[in-house]
Amino acid sequence: MATFLFDKIIFGPVKSRRLGVSLGINLLPVNVKVCSFDCIYCECGWTPKKYEEKAKLPSRKEVRQKLEKKLKQMVADRELPDVITFAGNGEPTLHHEFAGIIEDTIELRDQFSPNARIAVLSNATMLHKPAVFEALLKIEDNIQKLDSAFESTIKIMDCPRGNFNLEKVVDQLTRFGKKVIIQTMFIKGSFKGQKIDNTTEKEIAAWLELLKKIKPSQVMIYTIARDTPVETLKKAPAQSLNLIAKKVEEAGFEVQISY
Ligand code: SF4
Repeated sequence: MATFLFDKIIFGPVKSRRLGVSLGINLLPVNVKVCSFDCIYCECGWTPKKYEEKAKLPSRKEVRQKLEKKLKQMVADRELPDVITFAGNGEPTLHHEFAGIIEDTIELRDQFSPNARIAVLSNATMLHKPAVFEALLKIEDNIQKLDSAFESTIKIMDCPRGNFNLEKVVDQLTRFGKKVIIQTMFIKGSFKGQKIDNTTEKEIAAWLELLKKIKPSQVMIYTIARDTPVETLKKAPAQSLNLIAKKVEEAGFEVQISY
């Protein structure tokens, strides 16, 4: 299906379903996806098995220069973003200068667009790195993926590369002390002959227990909005998302749904 890659380091602003008017920052290469997951629903397509030399990440200096130029232009156009969002062609926290880039972004935001929030969309696989963890504590919207409370489901939906230990990830998410937003993708369908449905009662009950442990400031629930690499996936129905949202609220958390 028609998945796509972002062809720029700074992209947008775009109207985000979840975040408002969002100026995007892609810390990954513009010609290849780089990620520690290979989610079957990823709108960037499959993660390559091997990265070649074309997987060149932008430098901290380059990101700073391009962001400064774009923000100056947005100030001149009186078109400031609601949020500056780290997303793009993979997992932003894999960038070796992630912490420094966050520092620069905070500085530039304060200078040119002080009301804009800074958001990072992450898959929570790099939280064991102290510099990444500390940097995420400095931003407003620290949005971390948790697609299921069952490692077996995560292995089917997110296909982690290398070792993945859900218990450790949950411990790291808990350490944020509420300075974290949990994002969960709900889907139905099948992949390689295996049924996928993380909207079942069993899935939701276990996931709610993890939320109670992590205590996020907000929970974002959403479903497929664009083409995915696997054609046998279906959107979670609005009725299921509404029911899940109700349970999240009853558990005492703020919830945001994107259908
Ligand atoms: S974590 Fe995000 S970028 Fe990586 S494969 Fe999953 S959806 Fe795609």
